[in-house]
Amino acid sequence: MTRPAIVWFRRDLRLADHPALHAAAALGRPVIPLLIDETGGAEAESDGGAARWWRHHAVAALAAALERRGLTLLLRRGAAAAVLDEVIATTGADCVLWNRRYTPAGVATDRAVKAALAARGIEARSFKANLLFEPWEIATQSGGPFRVFTPFWRACRAAPLPERPLPEPADLRPCPDQPAGERLDSWGWLPTAPDWAGGLRAAWSPGEEGARDRLAAFLDRGLAGYAEGRDLPGRAVTSRLSPHLAWGEISPRALFHAVRDAMPAGADADKFLAELGWREFCAHLLFSQPDLATQPLRGAFAAFPWRDDPAELAAWQRGRTGYPLVDAGMRELWETGWMHNRVRMVTASFLVKDLLLPWTAGAAWFADTLVDADPASNPASWQWVAGCGADAAPFFRIFNPALQGEKFDPAGAYVRRWCPELAGLPDRWLHRPWAAPAAVLRQAGLRLGQTYPAPIVEHDAARRRALAAMEKCHGEA
Ligand code: FAD
Repeated sequence: MTRPAIVWFRRDLRLADHPALHAAAALGRPVIPLLIDETGGAEAESDGGAARWWRHHAVAALAAALERRGLTLLLRRGAAAAVLDEVIATTGADCVLWNRRYTPAGVATDRAVKAALAARGIEARSFKANLLFEPWEIATQSGGPFRVFTPFWRACRAAPLPERPLPEPADLRPCPDQPAGERLDSWGWLPTAPDWAGGLRAAWSPGEEGARDRLAAFLDRGLAGYAEGRDLPGRAVTSRLSPHLAWGEISPRALFHAVRDAMPAGADADKFLAELGWREFCAHLLFSQPDLATQPLRGAFAAFPWRDDPAELAAWQRGRTGYPLVDAGMRELWETGWMHNRVRMVTASFLVKDLLLPWTAGAAWFADTLVDADPASNPASWQWVAGCGADAAPFFRIFNPALQGEKFDPAGAYVRRWCPELAGLPDRWLHRPWAAPAAVLRQAGLRLGQTYPAPIVEHDAARRRALAAMEKCHGEA
């Protein structure tokens, strides 16, 4: 009898450009596709609510795609090592294949599993699939990790081009005596009481097919003009592929080559590929700094006098700060599980600098509400905004939320969409309703403090307070 091979799916919920699946198919053996809801200790995945919603649908889409190829996705919940042991014992599999992950807990689990399997004579093979470059493939001249983006990306671009993506495997053989798995519905990843996911359903199509459609639309309508338009949240310019990438429904090298094929040179393609480069850089940072999510990379920030103000944190979370661009962003996030990058920067800066609330509280809220919540990009970006990251915006550079709105949402399309109570204000006052004359407010049907909040802090005073706090903490940021 030919022994089956187990393909362990994680955040790589696709059939195309899936090196582990490809290698299993090439063995010509029956394939058991396995997905584990990992529990227990450091191995537990700690997805937030929106990410769990996405994951449910992405796993369902993968299961359906496998079913069309005659395979059943085996679902199991438990500690990875124990689940693998049990599946190996019941099926006689002697080979486990997976694509690599780079989170500290994921790396630790995979190393331990690989060693335990090898000790029992079970072959375990892992593959590069979820990054363009392995974190250890790109190194400084002294052989260490990069801490600054520009030289990192320069080194990436000087390295051999990422391989072309693999097609879906042509032949996949099912395993005739594959054991029964658990039911996805029983894992409780979908919200029920209440079902708050209506906005997510309206905004997204999780799954590999949804990712392909998104990419096609981006190549058609977003890429040309990306460099100029990517900072304007009122226009649908950026790819919105982040959740599809986060869940591995499309591989970064498929995206990399699709963009290069569509536009071999030029500022738009360069800018877009550099954004993919930021994703790589965040993973590179997390790999060398396993405590990225909890510890500021600049040590001096450990003593920063963060405030603790649950009411202000709640106002920020729910988009009730009185600053239109901030509120629009936080409402877009709450409603759709996603927020435009420019607005992520502005809302994050507002929390950390205007409210002096800790970046870890902001990162936690994003982790719970983003469908693209990524264990590397989320904390690395928060550290960047807070000024405590490796290659960070300096702390003293503090966004003025009204000016940011006027610059990047000048006609107010974004703010009017997410804060409809402000829609009647003329553009001139839209981003600073507190400064509008009473007659203008009246005409727009706006009562500050009633129909829309008055600002919860005054930006100039908040800015001075932030700079003073920084000064007290240390003189060097
Ligand atoms: P596009 O402009 O189309 O870019 C293409 C892809 O490149 C994105 O899908 C994403 O994978 C990657 N990318 C783009 N910008 C960045 C960036 N600055 N850093 C890292 N990767 C980038 N991105 C996440 O994927 N997950 C997160 O949890 C996350 N948290 C963030 C938190 C904060 C405070 C900030 C400021 C940014 C965060 N980002 C995060 C980065 C960025 O905002 C999103 O990747 C981007 O908005 C996704 O939209 P898009 O797919 O249309 O991007």
